[in-house]
Amino acid sequence: MSFDYDLFVIGGGSGGVRAARVAAQAGAKVALAEEDRYGGTCVQRGCVPKKLMVFASEYPGHVEDAKAYGWDAQIGDFCWDAFRSKLHAELDRLEGVYRNILGNNGVETFDARARLADAHTVELSDGSRKTAKHILLAMGGWPVLPEIKGADLGITSNEVFHLDELPETMLILGGGYIACEFACILNGLGVKVTQYYRGAQILRGFDEEARGLVAEEMQQNGIDLHLGTNILEMAEDGGKIRVKATNGTERHFDKVMFATGRRPNTAGMGLEDLGVKLGRNGEVLVDEYSQTSIPSIYAVGDVTDRMNLTPVAIREGMAFVETVFNGNPTPVDHALVPTAIFTQPEMGTVGLSEEEARDQGPIEVYATSFKPMRESFAGRAQRVLMKLVVCADTRRVLGCHIVAPGAGEMIQLAGIAVRMGATKEDFDRTVAVHPTMSEEIVTMREPVRTA
Ligand SMILES: Cc1cc2nc3c(=O)[nH]c(=O)nc-3n(C[C@H](O)[C@H](O)[C@H](O)COP(=O)(O)OP(=O)(O)OC[C@H]3O[C@@H](n4cnc5c(N)ncnc54)[C@H](O)[C@@H]3O)c2cc1C
Repeated sequence: MSFDYDLFVIGGGSGGVRAARVAAQAGAKVALAEEDRYGGTCVQRGCVPKKLMVFASEYPGHVEDAKAYGWDAQIGDFCWDAFRSKLHAELDRLEGVYRNILGNNGVETFDARARLADAHTVELSDGSRKTAKHILLAMGGWPVLPEIKGADLGITSNEVFHLDELPETMLILGGGYIACEFACILNGLGVKVTQYYRGAQILRGFDEEARGLVAEEMQQNGIDLHLGTNILEMAEDGGKIRVKATNGTERHFDKVMFATGRRPNTAGMGLEDLGVKLGRNGEVLVDEYSQTSIPSIYAVGDVTDRMNLTPVAIREGMAFVETVFNGNPTPVDHALVPTAIFTQPEMGTVGLSEEEARDQGPIEVYATSFKPMRESFAGRAQRVLMKLVVCADTRRVLGCHIVAPGAGEMIQLAGIAVRMGATKEDFDRTVAVHPTMSEEIVTMREPVRTA
């Protein structure tokens, strides 16, 4: 049977674009459909615009520190309009880069929504049909609004980059990394931020000591964080949003942002009709090679809801191409993925939390929390944390957790050592780089706890 293409990719985000490009480079005839903007979540409404906002939000702190270091420095007003225009120009530029990557590698693109017609056929929104030997689902995910009366008055991370003006007051609902990052960003930009989270502590799933310190620092930086608190209902009231909460309060905010979870983009795709198995959250179920229950159909990235990070979607896309087009079956390895949370201070983490490691066997915990030199000189109360979780038997470092400015940069490198199976003694043998914050990671001699 002959097909129009060897591969048809649905979704031009991190996973889809990478898979399309490397498959084309491997000699495959490839097409890709994107219904919105090329680059997907990461480039258009995730990592990239968020990180640029993180940078923007850090300047008031830098200027305060500059004063403490003897500079006659004064911060003026933040011009959201100027920043937003520049931000969107940058996102336009990046969209062009992504289109070029595809075009230059011979991938045919369709600016259209696609759905499945059968195991080898994709139907585009203009009604045309394309056949392919393999189909790759890379449709990503979308934020979910909670089922609260008046929820339609709120926004999500998708809209926050497009606000006409920065609000004076904002409530952020949620305790995951997106909620916490935006609480810090908006706080840094001068918005009075309140954060409600129904759980007992933000950043569920991460090391408890590390997330505890992030929460403390966020509060110290002025974020009005309420744990164990949810929204009951919202209503419009004199140009503001009146929010009734489970803690018995009724408060008014200019904007409410929901960061209460995301759902894979699988609705209306024709997947169930075809027999592609989906999980409870609508995610496409795949095996270790990203193959779905229909052999010709694969899925990578957030649409599979495995580990929703850009570099993971990219890895999955590349492993798929290696498996299907290079004759080299490559399972996707989701172990020991280093990751960063761009709160203020940042958190970088790789491997097991103390709590997870404790459940697996005897451990030693090495940790130190201190005021870093730079911030301490500037009179800031900020503390940082360096922590290693070590297996008592093998001496391997099972987890590394850093809460500090620049933790994202540090954890990338620590991640290599942890991934290579470094022991605590390997860390100890490494000479410190002085004077730095990260030198503490190789100079912790005695465990603070064993468990
Ligand atoms: C606010 C925010 C911040 C984030 N920050 C980070 C971070 O700091 N670091 C990190 O690693 N990750 C971060 N992420 C996660 C990261 O963005 C995602 O994991 C990554 O983009 C997933 O890539 P993907 O290819 O699976 O999907 P996406 O990038 O979402 O791409 C999917 C594409 O498919 C298109 N599409 C959907 N349905 C169809 C259809 N039927 N037909 C045609 N096209 C379709 C969509 O328009 C979209 O462009 C963040 C996410 C958010 C929301």
